[in-house]
Amino acid sequence: MTTRLYYDDAYLATFTAQVVERTSVNGHPAVRLDRSAFYPTSGGQQHDTGALAGVAVIDVQVAEDASVLHLLAAPLPKEAAEVTGVIDWPRRFDHMQQHSGQHLLSQAFYRLLGLETVSVHFGDELCTLDLAGESLGAQGLEAVERHANEIVWEDRTIRAYAVSDGELANIPLRRAPQVTGKIRIVEIDDYDWSACGGTHVTRTGSIGPLSLLRVERNKGNSRVYFVCGARAVNDARRRRQLLGDAAALLDTAVEEVPSLLAARQERLKEQDRLLRAMQEELLGYRAQSLLAQAEAVGGVRLVARVLADLDPTGLKSLAAGLVATPGVVALLACGMEGKGTVIFARSADVELHAGQLLRAVLPRFGGGGGGRPDFAQGGGVDVERLVELIETARQLIG
Ligand SMILES: [Zn+2]
Repeated sequence: MTTRLYYDDAYLATFTAQVVERTSVNGHPAVRLDRSAFYPTSGGQQHDTGALAGVAVIDVQVAEDASVLHLLAAPLPKEAAEVTGVIDWPRRFDHMQQHSGQHLLSQAFYRLLGLETVSVHFGDELCTLDLAGESLGAQGLEAVERHANEIVWEDRTIRAYAVSDGELANIPLRRAPQVTGKIRIVEIDDYDWSACGGTHVTRTGSIGPLSLLRVERNKGNSRVYFVCGARAVNDARRRRQLLGDAAALLDTAVEEVPSLLAARQERLKEQDRLLRAMQEELLGYRAQSLLAQAEAVGGVRLVARVLADLDPTGLKSLAAGLVATPGVVALLACGMEGKGTVIFARSADVELHAGQLLRAVLPRFGGGGGGRPDFAQGGGVDVERLVELIETARQLIG
């Protein structure tokens, strides 16, 4: 068994220990020590990194016999029997802030809203808290954030101590412990009692600012994203920067960004409506002009064109405009780059199956599609071959 030094002192960042065993795990050199301040991945908290005798510690795990395994980037020097361990302190302290913040938040959600913590996750950037039920909304989130930060400012002590099964009944735990025997209790003075083997700061003030970022529904629970300490400061700075950039782009004050964006969106919608109406009108004139130039084939007026400047919606409108006049067949295609769109259509009084014609022609050009006797649409044809395609269809009709 490894004596876990962080149980008594979570602020111990440098220590000496005897090497008990040299082994390997998943191809990495690994060592067991008689005692260690390295925290192994457990209880949702990530492992520490750092160095042992100057060799990088890349992972720390709990072995099957509950000892602590230190995975190394390289083997320890052969002569090393006693080694000095150094914890990557910024990383560990960040974990301590997030973890202590989680205890505080779980109690805050319970006290203010009666919501029980179902599970927690500590990520590299964001931490999450899953709360029972889907009732949590923005208002609850704001109230809990305010209350939790007040507990931070009160700078209450956080201490860990062991109790026996018998003494456990006197501790107002939020959740029953998952282990038996001596239980390690982490107490935020007169506020929260949790059974926990993790590392924590010693005063709530050290948690630093505590930000609840958002809540989302997750499998019948409410998942709260939160950050504490330096992460909360960095997050606020990043958001200030983003909002500042948006305001600069809009050439306005930060406070004006939402209302200005809403107004611009409304104006854009109005302009879209106007543009569509003008396009329709223009396509009407264009249909008349194309009809005036149409060739007479077998008693119908034939319009066979590739119109590179139209999109599929415009092409469809134009085809509809053309065949609204009796005695017309329209063989149209469009496409700016890549694959083109093809539409064959005819007036109600013309004897021709547009769908059959399309199915007969498009496969020859690598495309496909289909439709009704009076209107058919297809695609998948290379833009360079559209002129040839329309000419083939024209000759088939002739
Ligand atoms: Zn804890």
